[in-house]
Amino acid sequence: MAPETHADTSGTALEARIAAVLDEIPDDVTVVAAAKTRSADEVAAAIRAGIRHVGHNYVQEAEAMRAAIGHDCTWHLIGHLQRNKAKRAVTAFDVIETIDSTRLADAVNRRCAAIGRTLPVLLEVNIAGEASKAGVAPPDAGAVAAHVAGLDHLRLTGLMTMGAWTEDPEDARSQFKAARRLFEELQDVAAMPDLSMGMSDSFRIAIDEGATIVRLGTVLFGPRAG
Ligand SMILES: *Cc1c(COP(=O)(O)O)cnc(C)c1O
Repeated sequence: MAPETHADTSGTALEARIAAVLDEIPDDVTVVAAAKTRSADEVAAAIRAGIRHVGHNYVQEAEAMRAAIGHDCTWHLIGHLQRNKAKRAVTAFDVIETIDSTRLADAVNRRCAAIGRTLPVLLEVNIAGEASKAGVAPPDAGAVAAHVAGLDHLRLTGLMTMGAWTEDPEDARSQFKAARRLFEELQDVAAMPDLSMGMSDSFRIAIDEGATIVRLGTVLFGPRAG
């Protein structure tokens, strides 16, 4: 009995905390709750608090979570996608934010065609050019965007970027500015509404610099264990 009482109390506290964060974010900015390491109960509480978009990094975990908490929200893939997982990804997710090559785009397009679905996708850009980071290098982004925009079963709706980790979130600002510039340049290739950038430590700056999607974990759910 005691653990249940505890879980219920913390669920309510979690809802209040998430509602407070949502309150300070402009209505035209979409909040994607980054659900990695969180339980289905925590994510369900986030949905009760007003979250409408859930992001997950992993196909398999997202499938289980979606089965547990349902379809009342839009599921975004925000982690790297391997081509051999494309088949499952196109049913587990409603938006794929991490298209980072023409080969991956082709694989996802083929899987979408097979099930008669058209998926909105974002092109992940490695804006800081770090060797360790996924994403298309900015000089290649135009060509990859044009390729993706030409595929029948994908709808290119924006750019996503992680940015390099910086000690002072203010240092992220120049990366966000660069992403915004690229986003504007690429509107000639495809008219794209969404720029997904900014996480818990940087989302206010990202919104200042033109983010339309922010991906938030810690500030909603608390620190990740481990
Ligand atoms: C975990 C994660 C986030 C959220 O990170 P926080 O710092 O916890 O807000 C955003 N985007 C991606 C791709 C992530 O993996």
